[in-house]
Amino acid sequence: MDLPKDIKSGRLFVLSAPSGSGKSTLKDLALQRLPELVYSVSYTTRRPRPGEIDGRDYNFISEERFQAMVDGRDFLEWAGLFGRHYGTGRAWVLERLRQGRDVLADLDVTGAASVRRLMPGATLIFMAPPTVGELRRRLSSRRTESAEEAGRRLTQAREEIARRRIYDYLLINDRLDDSLEQLVAIIKFGRGRPMAEMENFWPAFFADQDQPR
Ligand code: ADP
Ligand code: 5GP
Repeated sequence: MDLPKDIKSGRLFVLSAPSGSGKSTLKDLALQRLPELVYSVSYTTRRPRPGEIDGRDYNFISEERFQAMVDGRDFLEWAGLFGRHYGTGRAWVLERLRQGRDVLADLDVTGAASVRRLMPGATLIFMAPPTVGELRRRLSSRRTESAEEAGRRLTQAREEIARRRIYDYLLINDRLDDSLEQLVAIIKFGRGRPMAEMENFWPAFFADQDQPR
């Protein structure tokens, strides 16, 4: 799956974050800021949230169509999450990379691990809010999930964080404008906080459970 070395190739950047961290917000800002970067619009079988647009945020498809795409090997990677399915269009991504375009994909940890295997040269970025308490607040402020669904996403967040070591960089999304600068620095210059050097961050992250800020 790795691209032949002799062709011009763009770079693949994977951005992962616990749901509610602010990833969509940051991704939209990065795409405005870096016109040469293209976004891989995933396929999903979940329902659109208010304001989401088919073909821009996701390609919203049925479970039947998703399964047909799995059978047709149309996905670079796919994963089952929260009882729904999410997948990355293989042909679209490979074509952009062949054209020399840089591609940003928003994937869960399982998707990031698949990309790491398929394309060892991809850059994997994990984003987190400053504390788990702040993650909870952002999830509830978004008001797009029920309390039960938000709880499932918090449990999922702990599992994702446990698998953080596959990532190259940690991006702490505290102030949005700083986070944008961090993301741009990683994409343009390969400069960021290496995940391997950020182990001291996590005890404080989990220490703040519910305290109001
Ligand atoms: P995700 O795509 O990671 O699930 P969203 O982009 O939908 O998350 O953001 C979740 C909520 O957090 C939204 O209400 C968003 O406005 C808010 N948010 C995003 N980034 C920040 C930030 N740096 N500081 C405070 N709130 C933020
Ligand atoms: P949401 O439902 O909040 O938009 O996304 C839920 C999770 O699905 C997020 O962690 C997001 O990164 C992940 N996701 C979105 N698209 C894909 C995809 O194509 N593949 C994989 N593996 N995960 C995806």
